[in-house]
Amino acid sequence: RAKGEGPGRSTIFDTSMHTQVRERIELEVALRQALTEDQLHVAYQPIVRLETGIPVGAEALVRWMHPERGPIPPMAFIPIAEDAGLITEIGTWVRKEALRQLGVWRSEGTVGDEFYLSINVSPRQLSDPELPLIVSGEMVRYGVPPHCVALEMTESVMVDGSSVTSRVLFELREIGVKLLVDDFGTGFSALGYLRRFPVTGVKIDRSFVTGLGVNIEDDEIVRAVVAMSHALGLSVIAEGVETPLQREALHVVGVVNGQGWLWGAAVKPEEFAERWRETMTRVPNGIPEIVANP
Ligand code: C2E
Ligand code: MG
Ligand code: MG
Ligand code: MG
Repeated sequence: RAKGEGPGRSTIFDTSMHTQVRERIELEVALRQALTEDQLHVAYQPIVRLETGIPVGAEALVRWMHPERGPIPPMAFIPIAEDAGLITEIGTWVRKEALRQLGVWRSEGTVGDEFYLSINVSPRQLSDPELPLIVSGEMVRYGVPPHCVALEMTESVMVDGSSVTSRVLFELREIGVKLLVDDFGTGFSALGYLRRFPVTGVKIDRSFVTGLGVNIEDDEIVRAVVAMSHALGLSVIAEGVETPLQREALHVVGVVNGQGWLWGAAVKPEEFAERWRETMTRVPNGIPEIVANP
C-alpha cells in the first residue's frame, strides 16, 4: 500500500475487487444451473429489407431469465461463459434451438423458402474441427437447407484464429451456410482477412449507424464500407437502426438490409411469428421483389 494512503481506502478497493470476483463466480455457478434448469431461451430480431421493412431473416439472440434476478443481458454473461468454458455448451444449445424453430416455421409456412436465421458463434466454437459436421447433421435433422443459415462471428476470429479455425470456416462455407462478420468496423483496420477467409457478408456495427444523417464522418465511413464490401462481393447488413433518418441515409449509400429497433427488438418466437406472419407470407418465397444494388 502506498505511503500516506489510509487503510480505509485500501479496504474499499479490496472490497470492490472482492465483490466483483464473487459476483463473477456466482454468475458462473448460476449459469451452469441455467443450462440444466431451462432458464435460457432464444429471442428473434428481424433482419429486413430497408425499402420495404419486410423480413428476409432474423438474428437469434440468447436470453437468460434468472428466477430471482430477472433477465440478465448477454453482455453480462457471454464473456463469463467464454472464460468458464461454458460458451460451447450455450452456443450449441442456442444453435440447435434456433434451427429447430426455423424447421417448425418452415414446415408451418410461417416463413418462406429463403428466410434465414443468423446465429452468433464464439471463437472457441469455431476452433472445433467437428463443427461443420455437427452443423450439417443438425440442418438435416431439422429440415433446414444451408442457404437459410448464417453464422455471425467477430473479426477477432479471423485475425487471431488458428489454422484449425481457418479450415472450419472453409468447410462451413463449402456446406453452403452464410458467414457474416459481426460488429464490423470495431476491431481491426487491416482488412486483408476479408479476402483470405470465405466470409459472405458484413454487419456494420451500430456505433457507425447511430450518427448517420447527422455526423458526416459516419456517412462517409459507411459509404466506404459499402463500396468495399460490394467490390468484394459481400452482403451488407446495418445493425442498430433506430430512426427513419438512419434508414434513409443507409438507403442512399446503397445498404439493402438492416436490423434494429426501427422494425423491432428481439422477441420470443411466438411473438415474432405473430408479428410478422402477415408480411412474411404475403411475399412470394418470403422475399420481397429483388431490387438491384444501386
Ligand atoms: P450482436 O450479435 O452484435 O447483437 C446485436 C445486439 O444489438 C443485440 O443485443 C440486440 O438486441 C441489440 N440491438 C438490436 N437492435 C438494436 C437497436 O436498434 N439499438 C440498440 N441500442 N441495440 C440494438 P443483445 O441481444 O443484448 O446481445 C448482445 C451481444 O451478445 C450480441 O451482440 C452478441 O455479441 C452476444 N450474443 C447474444 N446471443 C449470443 C449467442 O447465442 N452466442 C454468442 N456467442 N453471443 C451472443
Ligand atoms: Mg450478432
Ligand atoms: Mg452484431
Ligand atoms: Mg453488435
